[in-house]
Formats: sequence, structure tokens, C-alpha cells
Amino acid sequence: MVTTAQVIQILEKMAQVIQKNKDYLTELDMPIGDSDHGINLTRGFQAVTAKLPTVADKDIGTILKTVGMTLVSTVGGASGPLYGTAFLRASGKATGKSSLELNDFLDMMDAAIEGVKMRGKATVGEQTMLDAMVPALEAMKAAAGQSPAQALAAGLTAAQEGMKATIPMVATKGRASYLGERSIGHQDPGATSFTLLLGVIAQQVQEG
Ligand code: ADP
Ligand code: MG
Repeated sequence: MVTTAQVIQILEKMAQVIQKNKDYLTELDMPIGDSDHGINLTRGFQAVTAKLPTVADKDIGTILKTVGMTLVSTVGGASGPLYGTAFLRASGKATGKSSLELNDFLDMMDAAIEGVKMRGKATVGEQTMLDAMVPALEAMKAAAGQSPAQALAAGLTAAQEGMKATIPMVATKGRASYLGERSIGHQDPGATSFTLLLGVIAQQVQEG
């Protein structure tokens, strides 16, 4: 499905997409948070981009572990440790690998979700990034018999729907939970950034 070189390309494109959506993500974080989600992730992925040349010749596990550690150490706010944990957990499923098949990616997503759930003590339906991640993985598992591009496309559609489904939710985790019922009516920033990141992977797999 993807080679090491394509993983590097995906990470570079993730940094570009986050940078491009910096203001959008920060605006989503304004009414229910502290207006920094786009700023946080842009800082983190810029640091990732700077690190990539030092690990580009390593196995995919090492590359993703570096991404996770970089996000944890450079991103202030909840999303740094959460995305950092996601990449670190995913990296454990890619140790020694120089290419990934769809099944590897599904295992990595599974591990990433478990990590986010544990670290954030959250589950689906609490208006967080999990509301995009979990339905995306379920849709990709359901479509795993199809081509990787089709499975990723199904996952992306489910992530987009999950992201929209956060709007009527009451936030019960993270900063937005301080608002209680006033968090209703707002799309979760983390569910949105996850959907953007998955979109990069889906596009790369589509283009091959
Ligand atoms: P902060 O809330 O510290 O300012 P960010 O604004 O960068 O951090 O990220 C906020 C996003 O992090 C939320 O939109 C949500 O998706 C995610 N998030 C916050 N807390 C949790 C949690 N406990 N579990 C899962 N995701 C969470
Ligand atoms: Mg914030």
C-alpha cells in the first residue's frame, strides 16, 4: 500500500495541510476552547518536518516513533500528547517495516485509538478526535476486502461524517467540557484535524 518514501511524503503533506488549515482549526477552537488548535498542530508538524531528513532512511516504525516524540515534546495543549501517543502506538506496529499493507494500517489505527482513549480517558460521543477516528477505522475494517484506496476512501467519508456528528454533542472531555451544554453546536477541532490528516493518507494511497 505505501513504502517508506511514501510515508515520508505523507508526513510532509500532513504538515502542509495543517499549515494551510491553521486558521480554520484555530477558529473552531475559539468558541469552545482557547483558539490554539491550529497553532499547536502547525508548530508540531513544522518540528516533524525538520526532523524527517534525520530518519528518512530508517524503518517506518522508527520514523513514526520520531513523529510521536516530536509532537509530544513540541505541542502544548491536549492535542500534542494525544496525537503524539497515537503516532507512538502506531509506530509499535511498524517496527522494522519498509512498507505497509492495509492490514498493517488498520492495526496501527487500532493501536493509535487505544492509546488516545487511554491517555485522554475518553470514548466516542464526548466531542473529541475519537468521534472521527473510531468510525473511520470501523468503515475501513468493513471495506478491507476492497482495494486499499477504496477502504481509505470509505474511512475518510466516515471520518467526515463523524466530524460533523460532533456538532450536536455535549463535550465531556478536554477544555470544551468546561462549557457543558454550551459546547453543543460546535464542530470539534481535533475531529477536524484528524479528518484532514486521514485525507492526506487517502489521497496518497489513491495516487499510489
Ligand atoms: P487544548 O484543548 O489543550 O487547547 P488543542 O486545542 O490543541 O488542545 O486540542 C483540542 C482537541 O483535543 C479537542 O478538539 C479534542 O478533539 C482533543 N481532546 C481534548 N481532550 C481530549 C481527551 N481527553 N480525549 C480525546 N481527545 C481530546
Ligand atoms: Mg485549544
